[in-house]
Amino acid sequence: MRIRPACPAAQLRVSLLAGAVAALGGLVALPASAASSLSAWRLSREGVLELRTSPGITVQAFFEAGSAGRGPRIWLDLPGAPSRARQVWLGYNLREVRIGKPDGFTTRLVLEFMPGTVLNPGQLKLVGTAPDRWRMDLPATATRLGAAFGEGEFAPTPVPPPLGSPLARSRPAFAGWWRRPRPAPSGEGLPLVPRGRYRVVIDPGHGGPDPGAVGIEGLRETDVVLDVAIAVAQLLQSRGVQVLLTRTTEVDVDLPPRVALANDSGADLFVSLHANALSLDRPDVNGIETFFYEGGRSLKLARLVQEKLLAVSAGTPDRGARPGRFYVIRRTVMPSVLAEMGFVTGELDAPRLADASFRKRLAEALSSAILSYLQQAS
Ligand SMILES: [Zn+2]
Repeated sequence: MRIRPACPAAQLRVSLLAGAVAALGGLVALPASAASSLSAWRLSREGVLELRTSPGITVQAFFEAGSAGRGPRIWLDLPGAPSRARQVWLGYNLREVRIGKPDGFTTRLVLEFMPGTVLNPGQLKLVGTAPDRWRMDLPATATRLGAAFGEGEFAPTPVPPPLGSPLARSRPAFAGWWRRPRPAPSGEGLPLVPRGRYRVVIDPGHGGPDPGAVGIEGLRETDVVLDVAIAVAQLLQSRGVQVLLTRTTEVDVDLPPRVALANDSGADLFVSLHANALSLDRPDVNGIETFFYEGGRSLKLARLVQEKLLAVSAGTPDRGARPGRFYVIRRTVMPSVLAEMGFVTGELDAPRLADASFRKRLAEALSSAILSYLQQAS
């Protein structure tokens, strides 16, 4: 689009990131009674954390900076609850490792560091090395740990399969860090659809080294769209929809794997989320627009999305449901739209997009549009 130079969603990057396919971790609802998917963990004297899990799961990684009297924390959430909570007290600069169950269907592995420990979340990365293996390097702990420790049996990490093999395609994500965990939003008031009948792909644009558009006060498109996308996924799942996210963390995923995930999964809908930008000299330009490639069902979905987004964004201009040639909506085979949820450079839109409660309303609006579409289609 002529006025969206900072939002390269329309460009096809040709460099295929190694592991891009592996980055497509799906977020799939699990039965509440599922057992923990964490079967073993180990932290080596070199400061390497390794996990063995059920194959094909999604692990979410979180980081919280330390404060006065409290060290930084890293935690990993895995599907399924452990039979009981456990704690291991350590020493040195890693104070404690514990495995908890924050709810009935999650295993939370927490690494709590001593106050004053400095960790750079930008350098921390959880890497899926096999369908059931994960690894994270913790250099801050490397020289301080006296011995390896952990619990459960732990076999050596196998050599990852070559990319492109069927096994590689089912590998879990390598995940980065998502810093603001929050409780799952309630979907109360949204329509219910028959559980498991529909599958929707939510595509938060950009990610990792590609922040997308950067606007007022450094507001980054990638942060906005990831936050909204995760909330949409949680809301839709609570209403019976199976959801796949093209990324769940700050990683770079190329455009073809995003499309491949949607097409290979037989999804019913594809919704790509973006935020617009013009220039910091043009704060007067604000507005919401939703793109579709083909008329018919995609147009219908685009109109619903546009209408619902505008309904929670009082005063911002309606730029319309309009045709667009973005790669992700051009190449997906199911009804698909790309929503630009406001301008990160706009004086009206940017403060809203920076506001967590407003992003929650955007997520509710998107979920409402998607559920309405699915209801009408059935
Ligand atoms: Zn974008």
